[in-house]
Amino acid sequence: MMALAHEPRLAGGYLTIDLGALRANYRTLQEKLGDTECAGVVKADAYGLGIERVAPALAEEGCRKFFVALPEEGVTLRRLLPDVEIFILSGLFQDCEELYVRDRLAPCLTSLEEIRRWSAAASRHGPLPCILHLDSGISRLGLMEGPLRELAENPDWLDGLEVEYLMSHLACADSPENSYNEFQLEKLNTAISLLPPALRDTPVSFANSSGIFLGPEFQRDLARPGVALYGGNPTPGKPSPVRPVIHLQGKILQVHDVDSNIAVGYGASYRTAKNGRIATVSVGYADGYFRAFGNSAFCAIQNRKIPVVGRVSMDMLTIDVTDVEPELCKPGELVSLIGGAIDIDELADKAGTISYELLTSLGHRYYRRYID
Ligand SMILES: *Cc1c(COP(=O)(O)O)cnc(C)c1O
Repeated sequence: MMALAHEPRLAGGYLTIDLGALRANYRTLQEKLGDTECAGVVKADAYGLGIERVAPALAEEGCRKFFVALPEEGVTLRRLLPDVEIFILSGLFQDCEELYVRDRLAPCLTSLEEIRRWSAAASRHGPLPCILHLDSGISRLGLMEGPLRELAENPDWLDGLEVEYLMSHLACADSPENSYNEFQLEKLNTAISLLPPALRDTPVSFANSSGIFLGPEFQRDLARPGVALYGGNPTPGKPSPVRPVIHLQGKILQVHDVDSNIAVGYGASYRTAKNGRIATVSVGYADGYFRAFGNSAFCAIQNRKIPVVGRVSMDMLTIDVTDVEPELCKPGELVSLIGGAIDIDELADKAGTISYELLTSLGHRYYRRYID
């Protein structure tokens, strides 16, 4: 990984991460969940925000259970937080049993083969914690009906496993009106009914961020929010129940007075409509500011929205500052690119994507600062 910028004056962009907002979002979700426990999903370096800072802040808010995707991430998290429970969403990786045991990583077991390997490890080490991942219709990871029926006939395959939760994942949680959510709920209940009797009363984890807002039948015993902690709206189309966590600002490098009909940027894809001014900002697609934002997105100067004009290049983007007072757009002044007046979900939509992809694409050239 490229080193982060050392000091503000050396960097093209500043990324401010508000740990206070992160904490508030955790409390908001926990409150919405009532008695249901709220875990924290901190995979992909806490959605790009830095697991070293994010995970301890969540733990201070009372979060005791964490999910990561990979064993690699679990090892990192274990060094940060010796006392929490860590679940590995992508399952039990090949040849990693001893490492999971060493770092107390609990796999979300996805297949009979993983169950067999974890049970074999338990025969050497004593009882081992895990989650059983049941597919309920996303067809990505988890046990489908065939393997579940086999398991029901061979309950001894589970010997030595302490199954803490049954989990499943929603495909359409962000569209509450979609009947596929109800379909998955039924499919999950059917899957549970196929399990060996001793497992049928195991607590259930079903909801991601958006799932929390589908109601108590979806909340179950343990929720697994990720994006809502980081400021992504879990209820698209409605006002966000969570606070923005990141603010990305770019530095103005140069401002040009331009005539009308002047081409801007690669491909000469934009032409000025009148006499005006174009400012060049030192953030580009190498920093995770998508090329698709060219000629489509807005940034902001002092809460005023400014169009991104021309293509976004690797290290720069260009904006039309004709209507902004010159003293607010001089070289060295900062422009809000994500956060502040720029809503992360609306921005992602301009590139045909979602806040998740924007967050996890944030580059490593920024001067990063954490506030709390
Ligand atoms: C990433 C992930 C989550 C978190 O999802 P969000 O939509 O970010 O809340 C929960 N569960 C599973 C299985 C995941 O892969």
